[in-house]
Amino acid sequence: MTTSLDLRSDFPILERRIQGHPLVYFDSAATTLKPTPVIEAISHFYTYSSGPVHRGVYTLSREATDQYEAARRKVQHFIGADSPEEIIFTRGTTASLNLLAHSFGQAFLRPGDVVLLSEIEHHSNLVPWQMLAERRGVVLRYIPVNDAGELIIDEFFNLLDRKVKLISLAHISNVLGTLHPVKTLIEAAHRMGAFVCLDGAQSAPHLPLDVQELDVDFYAFSGHKLYGPTGIGVLYGKRDLLSQMPPIEGGGDMIEQVTLEKTTYAPLPFKFEAGTPMVAQAIGLGAAIDYVETIGMEKIAAYEAKLLNYATNRLSAVPGVKLIGTARKKGAIISFVIDGTHPLDLATLLDCRGIAVRTGHHCSQPTMERFGLSHTARLSFGIYNTLEEIDTLISTLKSLLPLVRRA
Ligand code: PLP
Repeated sequence: MTTSLDLRSDFPILERRIQGHPLVYFDSAATTLKPTPVIEAISHFYTYSSGPVHRGVYTLSREATDQYEAARRKVQHFIGADSPEEIIFTRGTTASLNLLAHSFGQAFLRPGDVVLLSEIEHHSNLVPWQMLAERRGVVLRYIPVNDAGELIIDEFFNLLDRKVKLISLAHISNVLGTLHPVKTLIEAAHRMGAFVCLDGAQSAPHLPLDVQELDVDFYAFSGHKLYGPTGIGVLYGKRDLLSQMPPIEGGGDMIEQVTLEKTTYAPLPFKFEAGTPMVAQAIGLGAAIDYVETIGMEKIAAYEAKLLNYATNRLSAVPGVKLIGTARKKGAIISFVIDGTHPLDLATLLDCRGIAVRTGHHCSQPTMERFGLSHTARLSFGIYNTLEEIDTLISTLKSLLPLVRRA
C-alpha cells in the first residue's frame, strides 16, 4: 500500500523538530504548509520583478502585471471558469463571502427575500449574511443536519421556495468533513430560480473542481489552505451576475473615469479590486496551483480518502473515542471527543510530542451547539501526511490518555 505521496521533501518546514520530535501536522483545514516552489515564487518576485500592477509602462511594472494576470488565468483553469473576468482576487474566503453578501445583497435582494444556509456553516458563511439580514431585512433560513452531519434533504426541499434567492453552503464542512451533494442542490435551486454560492475553503485544495460543470453561480476559496500564501483568495462568479453587481470598495484601479461629480467603474474583474492588489500573494497562489496540478487533483483526492479511511478506522478503535461527523461522503477531516478528557488537555500534550491537532469550536459555534458540545479535537489532512504519522498519533494518544482522563 502507498503510504505517502513521496513529496515531503518539498516542504522545508517538515524538517523542523517540535519539542524534540519530528513535526506531525494535522491542521491543514486551518492552513496548509508551503512547498518550496511557492516560497521561491514569492521570493523571486520580491527579489527580481517587484513592481506595481496595471500602472506603469516600465519593465518591472509590466512584468508584475503579466505575472499577476497569469495567476488569474491559472485560477480560471484550475476551477474550470469560462473567463478570467470571473476571477476576483480577494484576501481570502472570508473577504470573498463578505464581498458577495454586500454586493449581491445590494443588487439582488429585497426585504423579505430569503438566503438559505445550513446550520453547520463556518462563521465566515454565516455572520456576513446575518449582517446583511440586519441591514436589508433579508430573512435567513437554515437547513438542518442529521446526527451524521448530513443535510436533511427533505428539509432542504421544504425550505426551498420562490422566496429563496440565494443558497450559500460550505462544499465540505470544516468541522464534520461532510461533503454535501452539491450538484443535486444546485439543480434544485436553479429550478426554483435561486442562485448558489459554495464556500470552497475546504474543497478547492482537495477535490477536482469544475464550476461550469457544477453550474454553481459563485465559489469562494483561500490560497493559504491550498498550499499558497496567506492574504489571497478568490471569489468566482458567473460573468452575467458579477456584471450586475456593484463594487463595494472604491479607490484606485477599480475606476474607468473619475470627475469631481461622478465615477464610472472599470470592467470585470477590476471593478471589485480597489487599490494595490496582493501581487506577490497572487503569484504565490499561481505557483501553488501549478504545484498541485503537477501532482493531479484526482490523485490528491484519492490519497486523502485513503488517509481519511485509515485514520477513521484506527481512531474509532481507541476506547472512549467518539467521532463527530460520520457522513457517508467526507473530505479528509475528523472531529472527535474522548470520554473523560478535555480536547485542550489532549492537544497540549500532543504538541509536546510534536503533533499539531486543532481543538475548539473551529469557527462554527452553531455546529457545536447542534451536537451539544463546546469543542472537539480535529484532525485534517494534507498531501504531505502519511499513514505512519497516523500510527504515531494513535500510539501517542493511547500513551497519553491515562494522563488526561479526568476521574
Ligand atoms: N469557510 C470554511 C469552510 C473554512 O474552513 C474557513 C477557514 O477555516 C473559512 C471559510 C475562512 O477562511 P479564511 O479564514 O481563509 O478567510
